[in-house]
Amino acid sequence: MTANSMTTEISKEQQEEKESLNLFYSTQTVIQKALGKLGYPNEMYELLKEPLRLLTVRIPVRMDDGTVKIFTGYRSQHSDAVGPTKGGVRFHPEVNEEEVKALSIWMSLKCGITNLPYGGGKGGIICDPKKMSFRELERLSRGYVRAISQIVGPTKDIPAPDVYTNSQIMAWMMDEYSRLREFDSPGFITGKPIVLGGSQGRETATARGVTICIDEAAKKKGFNIQGARVVIQGFGNAGSYLAKFMHDAGAKVIAVSDVYGAVHDPNGLDIDYLLDRRDSFGTFSQLFKNTISNKELLELDCDILVPAAISNQITVENAANIKAKIVVEAANGPTTLEATKILSERGVLLVPDILASAGGVTVSYFEWVQNNQGYYWTEEEVDEKLVKVMVHSFETIYETAQKHQVDMRLAAYMVGIRKMAEAASFRGWV
Ligand code: GLU
Repeated sequence: MTANSMTTEISKEQQEEKESLNLFYSTQTVIQKALGKLGYPNEMYELLKEPLRLLTVRIPVRMDDGTVKIFTGYRSQHSDAVGPTKGGVRFHPEVNEEEVKALSIWMSLKCGITNLPYGGGKGGIICDPKKMSFRELERLSRGYVRAISQIVGPTKDIPAPDVYTNSQIMAWMMDEYSRLREFDSPGFITGKPIVLGGSQGRETATARGVTICIDEAAKKKGFNIQGARVVIQGFGNAGSYLAKFMHDAGAKVIAVSDVYGAVHDPNGLDIDYLLDRRDSFGTFSQLFKNTISNKELLELDCDILVPAAISNQITVENAANIKAKIVVEAANGPTTLEATKILSERGVLLVPDILASAGGVTVSYFEWVQNNQGYYWTEEEVDEKLVKVMVHSFETIYETAQKHQVDMRLAAYMVGIRKMAEAASFRGWV
């Protein structure tokens, strides 16, 4: 190999890594591969590579100081071949069109994996909820529902919580929708407070789903959760409940982090103390003197690593240094495609995001079913059903990976896209 071709080689790899950092692009790449493996023609890829619909809205909100601020929001609906679309709404300063589109495709895949009668949707508003008052957030939430009301509804597209949105925001949104339609519409949105038709177990569902995946993955790797060392990046809804569940199951949670940094104790952290001291955005690390960085946290010696924060955390830069036996992606897109390859070559069992984080939408589906029938289940019933769905999904993907000799991510895409492709074929779209 000449020096020149070496240079091109390196820059090609760098180019691939750069591209795999783009969530939308990397999702399309894996969808194309998955459909190819399943034997679908290119038209199917052309249909499914982009959302069917993307609505951009501008929402005027009267701020507490009397001024009016205009916020931009989105709702993306990937595919309604299987049924109504479903997915959360995030409030975040970095929300953008590409991300919302990619996330709606992921919702389709999550619903496919768990065999729910939905396609994927996702919404977002560009805002910084940390800097907004309670009443400003209420006006923004209601304004968003008015702006998107024509394309959503219990049989069209069902929103839910996501990054920095919670059951209070779902309650305002449900109330606004019910007022617009002039009848009570609990099935319009999921993740509501229990008293407004929320489901038992919804609040903890994402973390429960991750816990079930960890159990299954540990069985495959032949080790016990009891005493296993767990590292969790992020202490939001998924990360914090997961830390609690792992701690209660007898695992040793040795490090957790928030946006500012991480706390680490090889003997295990006092999770109840952290839960007690964190603020409503899950931050706690500023209370501690000795912290390590999020980057250092990922490379700690441990058995189970759970990235539960943001995307692109495990990349070509650090994939070779990850010491965990299993990586369970509770966040969306925490590992790039190049890093996925490196982990898989190194024998690390990676449970991909679209499987690991599917517990939330699964219990959202249970909530919607309960709303539609007006009959409510106990927490035990919800949990039992969730375990069934998650274990079955895990097994199907694991077997698909073995059978086709592919990594768990590609296997998850194959399982996730299959039902949608089949439905689109039966409808005569392709
Ligand atoms: N926002 C969650 C997710 O990304 C939940 C979506 C839902 O419950 O519909 O899976």
